[in-house]
Amino acid sequence: MSNARKVHVKSFGCQMNVYDSHRMADTLAPEGYVETATPDDADLVILNTCHIREKAADKVYSEIGRIRVMKDEAAAQGRQMLIAVAGCVAQAEGGEIVRRAKAVDLVVGSQNYHRLPEMIARARNGERVIDTEFPVEDKFDALAAPRREEIAKRGIAAFVTVQEGCDKFCTFCVVPYTRGAEVSRPVEKIAAEIERLAAAGVREVTLIGQNVNAYHGVAANGAAATLGGLLRRLARIEGIARLRYTTSHPRDMDDDLIAAHVDLPELMPYVHLPVQSGSDRILDAMNRRHTAAHYLDIVARMRAARADLAFTSDFIVGFPGETEEDFQATLRLVETVGFAGAYTFAYSPRPGTPAADMADQVPAEEKTRRLHALQALIARQQRDFNAQFIGRTLPVLLEKPGRLSGQLVGKSPYLQAVQVMAPPGLIGRVVPVAITELGTNTLFGVLAEDARAPVLAEAGA
Ligand code: SAM
Ligand code: SF4
Repeated sequence: MSNARKVHVKSFGCQMNVYDSHRMADTLAPEGYVETATPDDADLVILNTCHIREKAADKVYSEIGRIRVMKDEAAAQGRQMLIAVAGCVAQAEGGEIVRRAKAVDLVVGSQNYHRLPEMIARARNGERVIDTEFPVEDKFDALAAPRREEIAKRGIAAFVTVQEGCDKFCTFCVVPYTRGAEVSRPVEKIAAEIERLAAAGVREVTLIGQNVNAYHGVAANGAAATLGGLLRRLARIEGIARLRYTTSHPRDMDDDLIAAHVDLPELMPYVHLPVQSGSDRILDAMNRRHTAAHYLDIVARMRAARADLAFTSDFIVGFPGETEEDFQATLRLVETVGFAGAYTFAYSPRPGTPAADMADQVPAEEKTRRLHALQALIARQQRDFNAQFIGRTLPVLLEKPGRLSGQLVGKSPYLQAVQVMAPPGLIGRVVPVAITELGTNTLFGVLAEDARAPVLAEAGA
């Protein structure tokens, strides 16, 4: 394959971009492109960008500057390097990128990745190509499936997009503009994709969507399926030991999905449920369409259904008009729920969203102060959450060799990294691990005594 062209895809932002990056690489593979881990020797560099906060969007331009130097060096050696900008910045500021960054050869919006081969062919002939339309055809149908060896290389835990876009229009958020209206993929197409993954060794699948629990894809019988229904169908796929989903909206957390957590042992008891704020006044201004009490009620109902459920969340501090009292309400909500972790953000005004033009923008220093206070509380809760497992046994899906010789690293049901001494034959297996110690971001343990002999014998160790 010495004549193969090399593509380097760099992902910014959320897991949906990671999934899209894989699918872009899969689509370019039949065109002779192989993936390379670094940009300097690439014939094509794709920056798959994020527009969610100002800092994320700004990164793109500094990254283009860095790659441009490599592009000039390649040109000096008589080699063509193309630079493509994909993802949400491409979608939101396509024309602007082409104007501002002369080194960029093509701009492709998040719904148009299936058109990449044709766009690249034009760019190779010197044309600057831009495609950010929302097409009528389904990109998922047109994107190539990954090859078995590519799936294996990507590891035993995979992400699969089942839903894209958002109809909620929270006043701070660009997603409804960059990713468009909600679209759900049909159940059987998702099942077929996951069957392929499972056949290549994938054991854990996280279903992803901007608003994943608003999922409403067509089922085999032609009726609309809920996320609960989809999960029930996927749990039957042989080889899939674990299922997860993210990101959910409190408004779409229905009884069927809660029941799926009770009925399906494959569905992990770990739920990412963003609340953003604990103040009803701010939730209303954010157009979240739920109150703090509504959120707490969902958490209580889910815990009543399944006691070992743990929650993580997203928070924005310093939304326009947020007072100290509103912020205190957020801290109270956090104290009430007790989170296993959370993503916390200072509000970042995004052009074109209603909140960007609201009065009473909170000063930057105040946002930082609130952010640090919230982060300290969440960090304490996360430590307490992890510490409770010392002396207990957790089922761990072993994923890959650890840093020490003879060590494997895997994930608990709560996505905690767990290090354990175990033979490589156990990779891909769920084994009971007695947790002995807590590191900064990792749990340490030993194969549980009662499981040692049969598990090791089966692994041929
Ligand atoms: N759909 C999800 C939801 O309903 O929460 C997540 C969407 S977004 C990709 C992930 C997180 O980024 C949001 O939950 C929010 O906390 C944060 N976020 C979105 N827009 C923001 C902004 N303008 N400023 C700061 N944080 C923002
Ligand atoms: Fe953005 Fe999530 Fe709100 Fe949709 S529900 S607008 S993706 S924060």
